[in-house]
Parts: sequence; structure tokens; C-alpha cells
Amino acid sequence: MNNSIEIINLNKSFYMGKEEVKVLNDLSFSVEKGSFLSIMGPSGCGKSTLLYLLGGLDDPTSGQIIINGKDIGKLKEDEKAKMKRRDVGFVFQFHNLVPNLSVEDNILLPIILDGRSVKDYRIELKGILDLIELSHKRTATPRELSGGQQQRIAVARALLFQPEIILADEPIGNLDSRNGATIMELFQSINREFGKTIIQVTHSEASTLYGDSVIHLKDGVIESQKTLQPCGRGLITTL
Ligand code: ADP
Ligand code: MG
Repeated sequence: MNNSIEIINLNKSFYMGKEEVKVLNDLSFSVEKGSFLSIMGPSGCGKSTLLYLLGGLDDPTSGQIIINGKDIGKLKEDEKAKMKRRDVGFVFQFHNLVPNLSVEDNILLPIILDGRSVKDYRIELKGILDLIELSHKRTATPRELSGGQQQRIAVARALLFQPEIILADEPIGNLDSRNGATIMELFQSINREFGKTIIQVTHSEASTLYGDSVIHLKDGVIESQKTLQPCGRGLITTL
């Protein structure tokens, strides 16, 4: 089983009163384990909707989503909750950090909210802080940090339970190009060094070069799908 994600005849509609608005129209594609896919397309074409479905944050109207060999539509509620926590990590455009909590507590927030002991996560926390190069800012609050540093914390939080898949919805949409490049380099090393599967939604063509394939969505269908030549780490420094 070499795919992290398989999508089969996926449909999603929203209803405005009685009127059906079809957002995703019979999508099928798969994402290989350890690959880095970018999804592009005009505003409103269903990119966020697709990511939410992949992360189990919403349910499809029909079709199948197979994550690590498991059809998530067939999971019981508790299995689905576990899948959301263990298999996928989410990063959003706006980092959703709590302003008056320290960097450390923001990263540990999922554990704190779960009422579990943060002591059990000391080692993970140290590794993650080293990875995002913010060990020296452990006790700072988000407002003392740059936008790029704040977004690195959001990435760190998504890595806490060591998920195999990272879903990122416009992760650099709110950043200047220098900070954006730092985040893309972080995603690239998470992908290459730790073998995580990454799916990002982006409006930045340049940011797709950190990954290995691109899907263009339009009107809820795949307009094009291409594979990119791999490029060296850190070669791209501007977006
Ligand atoms: P994108 O991320 O590509 O900009 P979205 O996935 O957010 O697009 O939205 C796709 C379409 O679905 C839009 O027309 C949006 O208005 C609609 N939509 C998204 N979420 C909902 C919802 N919860 N209820 C109704 N319509 C929605
Ligand atoms: Mg969106």
C-alpha cells in the first residue's frame, strides 16, 4: 500500500435552501506516501472544502476517501476522532495561536485541551522546537514573534502527534515572501527528511516548486495534474 490518500468519485454539495450547489464533482486521485502535492485554483473552486474532507472535518455527499488504507466514511466515531488526531495534522492560513499563551503551550494546546499530561510530550516538544528553530523563544508569547515565526508554531502544533499527513490550507497566504520561503523550506524538510506526505493549497506558483506535483482545480473538477522535477533543498529562497 503505497498511497497515503485515495479519493474515489468524491462529490460534495452544499444546499442553499433547496438549491444544490455542487462544489466537488466526481473527483478521483491518489497521493503517494511521502509525496508533496500542491492544489491550486481560483477562489471558491472547492480547495478548502477538499482539504476539510481529507482531514475528516466534514463529510462528502458521496464517494470514498481512503486514508492509509482505511475508508474514513466507514470508521466509527471514536476511530474517526483517532484518525483526525493521529493520521493528519492541519495548518491554516491564519495560525489560530492563543495570544496570551507561550510558544510552548501553544504547541502543546491539543494535549492541554485533551486534559492529558504535557510531561509525556517533553521529548516531542524539544524535537519540534529544534526543528522550527524556536527553542530560544519557548516562553515568548506569539505577539513577540514575526508572522513567519508564528506560522512555524502552527506547523509545530500540527506535528505534535507525529501524523503521517500534513494538510495545509494557504499556509503562506498571509506572509511576506521571505517568511513564506521559510515556511516552505520547513515543509520541504518535513517532507524530505521525515517522509511526511504534504498537501498544500496555495495561490503561489513558486511555492509549488518545493513540492513534487500540482493539481489545478476548476469548477470542482481536476483541470490538470502535473509532476515536477525535484529541486534541491533551499535552492528556492524567494517566492
Ligand atoms: P476555495 O477554498 O477554493 O476558495 P471553498 O472550498 O472554501 O473554496 O468553497 C467552495 C464553494 O463552496 C464556495 O462557493 C463556497 O461559498 C461554498 N461553501 C463552502 N463551505 C460552505 C458551507 N459550509 N455552506 C455553504 N456553502 C459553502
Ligand atoms: Mg479556501
